[in-house]
Amino acid sequence: MRTIIIRRLEFDAGHRVLGHEGKCRHPHGHRYAVEIEVSAPELDSIGRVIDFSIVKELLGGWIDENLDHAFLVSVEDEPLAEALHSVGSNVYTMMNNPTAENIAALLLLKATDLLRDLMVESVTVYETPNCRAVAR
Ligand SMILES: [Zn+2]
Repeated sequence: MRTIIIRRLEFDAGHRVLGHEGKCRHPHGHRYAVEIEVSAPELDSIGRVIDFSIVKELLGGWIDENLDHAFLVSVEDEPLAEALHSVGSNVYTMMNNPTAENIAALLLLKATDLLRDLMVESVTVYETPNCRAVAR
């Protein structure tokens, strides 16, 4: 048997998807929700994978510092990054397009780095209540 815990985190951010055929090519924002699934080889002495608050503190802390109320910009989207910098906005530059898929992959890497003793099973990013991407 393997027990998994799931911690939900939320943040607000703007983005635009370069090359998108429709409305998502325009700058806009989302209330993103993140669900991180974590397991451990065995439960600790009081029966936990890890305290939920530690996941919030580590991954939630990184999100608060880097993504919350920031604009997520592809490294290839220099005009937008420059415009945002010129008005003093928070910008988080991604190596690829800021899609839910790529944000999930980014957060999976960060979570794996921040929660070293644990197994990060997946990170799900909800761009809207109906649309989500999962990185495993
Ligand atoms: Zn969007």
